[in-house]
Amino acid sequence: MSQQPYPSLPELLAPAGTFEKLVTAIHYGADAVYLGGTRFSLRARAGNFDQAGIIRAVDYAHGRGVKVYVTVNIFAHNRDLETLPAYLRELEAAGVDGLIIADPGVLSIARQEVPSLSLHLSTQANVTNGASAAFWAEQGVSRLNLARELGRREIAEIRECTGVELEVFVHGALCISYSGRCMLSNYMTGRDANKGDCAHPCRYSYRLVEEKRPGQYFPVEEDERGTYIFNSTDLCLLPRLPQLIAAGVDSIKIEGRMKSMGYVGSAVRLYRAALDWIEQQLSSGADLEEVELPQVFRKEMKKIGTRGHSQNFFDAPPSSEDMLYDTMRQAQGYAPVGIVRATEPLIIETRNVLELGDRIEYLGAEIEPLQMEVTGMIHPDGSKAQRVNPGNRVELVTEPPLGAPQLDAIVRIYRGDPE
Ligand code: SF4
Repeated sequence: MSQQPYPSLPELLAPAGTFEKLVTAIHYGADAVYLGGTRFSLRARAGNFDQAGIIRAVDYAHGRGVKVYVTVNIFAHNRDLETLPAYLRELEAAGVDGLIIADPGVLSIARQEVPSLSLHLSTQANVTNGASAAFWAEQGVSRLNLARELGRREIAEIRECTGVELEVFVHGALCISYSGRCMLSNYMTGRDANKGDCAHPCRYSYRLVEEKRPGQYFPVEEDERGTYIFNSTDLCLLPRLPQLIAAGVDSIKIEGRMKSMGYVGSAVRLYRAALDWIEQQLSSGADLEEVELPQVFRKEMKKIGTRGHSQNFFDAPPSSEDMLYDTMRQAQGYAPVGIVRATEPLIIETRNVLELGDRIEYLGAEIEPLQMEVTGMIHPDGSKAQRVNPGNRVELVTEPPLGAPQLDAIVRIYRGDPE
C-alpha cells in the first residue's frame, strides 16, 4: 500500500455533556466524544451519564464510527476505591473506547481491572515535559492530554520523547491557574474546581477592603470600568491547526462539557470544516507550513459564543492582550434558535424566541452558513404564529427556502453585531 505523502489529520474530539450534545457533536463531524459517568468524573454539573446512558451513547456513537472516551478523572480518596473496580468493568462491558484518568492510583487499578481499555492521561495531571511524558507512557497510558501551558515547540519536543498519542486542547475556556489547581471557587462559592464544578470567580470584578474599614471598597482599576484581575479570554487555536499537525498531535480537543448544544455544534462544525479544508490543500500538494485558513473561518469563529480569543502559550506566554480587563464577558451577536427535528416539511424545536422577519442561519456542512429570513411559522395544529417561545415545535418557512436540511442541524439567529 502506498504511503500518504502528508501527515495524518488529528482526531477531532468533542465534549458530550448530555446525549443531545453528543448527537450534535457527531452530526457536525466529531471523530470521538468524551463524556462523564455519574461517578468518578469531574464536571459535576455536566448532566453526566448513568450506566444505561453510557450504553446508549456508545451504541449511538459506534453506529456512526465515532469513539467514546469516559472521564474517570477524580482525585480519589480511599473511600472511592472500593466501588471503582466494578465501575471500570461496567465501562468496559459498555464498550467504551478509552478512559480519561488523572490519579495514579485510579490508573493502576484500571490497568489491573480493565487491561484491554486504552488509558488516557487527563490534562489535570499537567504533563509539561518529555520526561513526564515518558514516565506516564511507562505507566501504561496510551494517550497524554498535554497541559494547556505548552507552546508549539514544547509540544514538538514532547513528540520526540514518546510514542504515545498526544492530545491538545484547541478551543474553549482557559483557567488562570494550572487546569483547576485553584481553591478560589471552593473558598468563594463552595463549588470545587478540582471536582469540575468551578464557578469561575477568577472572572468576577473585584474591590479592595482594608480590615479596619469594613464596608469601604477601594476600587482596583485599570480604568473607570474596573478590573477583572484574572479574567482570561478563551483559547482558540483554529488558525494554528497546520502547526499543530506539523508538531505531531494525534487528537485536538474542544473544551466544554458544560457548554450549550449550540456552542458544541458550532465549534465542532468549524474545526471539522477546517481539518477537511487543510486535508484538501495537502492532497493537492500544498506545504503544511504554508497552509493558511481562509478569512471565512475567522468570521465564523467570531460567531461562536466567546469571551474573546487567545492562542495562550502557543508562540509565547500570554500577555495582557489575552485578558479581559474591562468586562466579565463579551456580548454575543448570534445565538442558537432551534434544532431541525424533521425535514419534510422543515420542523424545528425552538431554543430561543423566534419571530417572523428574523434573520437566521442554517449551519450545514459548508463553512458558509445559509442565511434566510423567517417568513412563516406554523404550529402542529395548523395555526400560524408571529412569535414562538423556546421549547416549541414549529414548521418553518423561509426565504430563500432551505433546500436539503438535515436532522439535528442547528439554526442560529442574528441579534446584531456586538462589535
Ligand atoms: S476560579 Fe478560575 S483559575 Fe480558579 S479553577 Fe476556576 S477557572 Fe481556574
